[in-house]
Amino acid sequence: MSEMIYFDHAATTPVHPRVVEAMTPYLTEVYGNPSSVHGFGRKARQALEKARDEIAGSLHVDPQSLIFTSGGTEADNLAVIGGALAQQGRGRHVITTQVEHHAVLHACEYLEQIGYEVTYLPVDETGTVRMSDLERAVREDTALVSVMYGNNEVGTLQPIEQIGRFLRERHIIFHTDAVQAYGVLPLDPEHLFIDMLSVSAHKINGPKGVGALYVGKHVPISPLLHGGSQERKRRAGTENLAGIVGFAEAVRIAEAEREERVAKYKQIKAAMLARFQEAGIAYHVNGHPEHTLPHILNVSFPGIETETMLMNLDLLQVAAASGSACTSGSLELSHVLQAMNLGEERAESAIRFSFGITNTVEEAELAAKKIVQIATRLQK
Ligand SMILES: *Cc1c(COP(=O)(O)O)cnc(C)c1O
Repeated sequence: MSEMIYFDHAATTPVHPRVVEAMTPYLTEVYGNPSSVHGFGRKARQALEKARDEIAGSLHVDPQSLIFTSGGTEADNLAVIGGALAQQGRGRHVITTQVEHHAVLHACEYLEQIGYEVTYLPVDETGTVRMSDLERAVREDTALVSVMYGNNEVGTLQPIEQIGRFLRERHIIFHTDAVQAYGVLPLDPEHLFIDMLSVSAHKINGPKGVGALYVGKHVPISPLLHGGSQERKRRAGTENLAGIVGFAEAVRIAEAEREERVAKYKQIKAAMLARFQEAGIAYHVNGHPEHTLPHILNVSFPGIETETMLMNLDLLQVAAASGSACTSGSLELSHVLQAMNLGEERAESAIRFSFGITNTVEEAELAAKKIVQIATRLQK
């Protein structure tokens, strides 16, 4: 396995060894329920609140404004559905984009089933939402707007601050899915006029099955899970303490190493593109050339279908993806690339490479060499 190259960190990342170490006591010795009043419970409660402080600190927000969830998907569902339900007095119109993660898109489709109207904003060829489209879409009865921070397939960053400022002036609740941006970009929801923001642990070398939703102080939200009064009655269920402790440790490490990581991802991207250029193979980079996540590189290789390239890469020990994990394995074209209107050929030949902490520039050179080999053979 050691020579396998893993370039699919946008799908999931390996758990950092220090995260495993931080979690272990909470699976063994500290097994109390944070809601219990005895010493076992108190110890668990202390660990929970310490983790909450740590994660809130990374976002510069009040710890009380974080709701722990079972991951990015639940955070997005809670924001979109819980946020829209709580705003019913204002209206039943929701705005999102055509390039969201399915956790937001399918939550919006659910809202449509229960009588909401949803506007799906288009994007330009770089995958960016136009402010003019948003300005035209808002209505008296718009209850909520959800626009992702950075795209998981092509990396494009949205004009979040501009959107936030515009919506705040109109007192419209603004949610952003920051699952891919967290850990690689500094996030400051309050300064960007963001009311709700989703994050997930397993995309930043934490464990799977844990995430969080930031909900600003005066932002109403209806819970999706009903039961105990955990998370200030906004998310019932005994907390995933070990997962949350691991999440906090992953955040701590990511914050400390952020700049180095980003510098390395930029080098990796540049090295791969330089190899493609030198070799003279045909390729197009998808997404915005500058306003993009540093760890995501989406490239189309004309004449080579996505599945063919992925299988060939797999044979050569390189793990890449077709975009979202949900669309790979099926022949369905990426909804993101379709929304970007780049043409069928480009959408049918797109590969997503996504980088993480274990990757090296040497791996990028080696992977690029293998890609060039495949492309040279198949593009004839
Ligand atoms: C992975 C991902 C999610 C879902 O998070 P899970 O923790 O896997 O449920 C949501 N949004 C984006 C942008 C993602 O990349």
